[in-house]
Amino acid sequence: MDRILVVNAGSSSVKFQVFALDSRGEPVRQIKGQFDGIGVHPQLRVKDASGQVLIERNYAADQIGDVGAALVTAGAWLRETQNITPIAVGHRVVHGGPKYSAPVLINSHVIDDLDDYAPLAPLHQPNNLAPIRAIKAQMPDLPQVACFDTAFHRNHGALADHYAIPEKYYDEGVRRYGFHGLSYEYIATQLPVVAPAVASKRVIVAHLGSGASMCAMKNGRSVESTMGFTALDGLPMGTRPGQLDPGIVLYLIEQKGMTVAQVQKLLYGDCGLKGLSGISNDVRELQSSSDSRAQFALDYFVYRIGLNAGLLAAALGGLDAFVFTAGIGENSPIMRARIAATLQWLGGAIDAKANEGGASDIASGQSRIGIYVIPTDEELMIARHTATILKPLQKSPRVAAG
Ligand code: ADP
Repeated sequence: MDRILVVNAGSSSVKFQVFALDSRGEPVRQIKGQFDGIGVHPQLRVKDASGQVLIERNYAADQIGDVGAALVTAGAWLRETQNITPIAVGHRVVHGGPKYSAPVLINSHVIDDLDDYAPLAPLHQPNNLAPIRAIKAQMPDLPQVACFDTAFHRNHGALADHYAIPEKYYDEGVRRYGFHGLSYEYIATQLPVVAPAVASKRVIVAHLGSGASMCAMKNGRSVESTMGFTALDGLPMGTRPGQLDPGIVLYLIEQKGMTVAQVQKLLYGDCGLKGLSGISNDVRELQSSSDSRAQFALDYFVYRIGLNAGLLAAALGGLDAFVFTAGIGENSPIMRARIAATLQWLGGAIDAKANEGGASDIASGQSRIGIYVIPTDEELMIARHTATILKPLQKSPRVAAG
């Protein structure tokens, strides 16, 4: 059976999943794995589709020194114990820059382009490229596909993707890109199934995880996003501030004497819920804390989501539905209820029982808009894209032999 490996690499961890292609070519998840603590306390944990643990093993730091070594070890384990040799690898790549508005088969030109976009996502892009290079070095004939977090937003109109700065910067790539595109694209494919009445209408999707953003969709296509040039803008997140007056960055550099690296660390790692509360970036911990700073951080999160919902509703010229997704959106009825309360002026009202009971349609009978909870699946989206790109290639005998 043909299998696709999906890779989502961070700085010290790499998540991977294996999908089998069924008789219609639709990917079906078989395996979910993760290498954590790479270079420090490496640990491999893998589960099958039913959630049963297949391996949980620790390694010495020098055995798994980087993401490439982690993938080679995971690949050997898949081959030797599960008899799995993928026919292709799909990668989550945060930035496709101005050029890539769709997934692409990777070759050395594509790698060069993606390397050029590293300054646009300095903390993510190099980590996304590391496993691509490691696999290419080991298995140069194995097809690899890059799927971008920016791609779903690339058809934004000029008003939505510009900053009011001299045009020469736009030309060189300083644009409002938007991120979490694979998640939004998956939700767009689910809307006709879960919410057919609103799928072609004006919908705000709130991807609320450790990174958080919202997307305004019309007819299943992104027209506006709360995120912009980097994944720092828009909503406050676990450790990122969201929207910030750029004058604050100048203040930190000029008046506080901070270096660029220090400002970068502050903005990506020490702000958001963590910075505001001084306690945690995790909504679960903040929800169970009686500390007033924890409550303030959550109040702020809810308030900014409400403000940004107004902004996106304006971009859409009204609202027909609001969708919650990702870690917080899928799992926290308390946060959903609080956020829904900020949508009252747009006609939103939730049914408490449906919200607490884990239903997907959580709007009350009085609500003038649909309100839904739809679990996202970025990895399945990557597997689907990879399978689609692979189809014409499979006619070539080299790839068919896998
Ligand atoms: P990412 O994939 O961006 O790391 P997730 O989408 O997994 O993030 O979301 C992670 C966040 O979801 C956690 O930081 C936590 O705050 C939140 N979360 C997960 N489960 C719950 C829950 N049951 N209640 C409240 N928040 C939750």
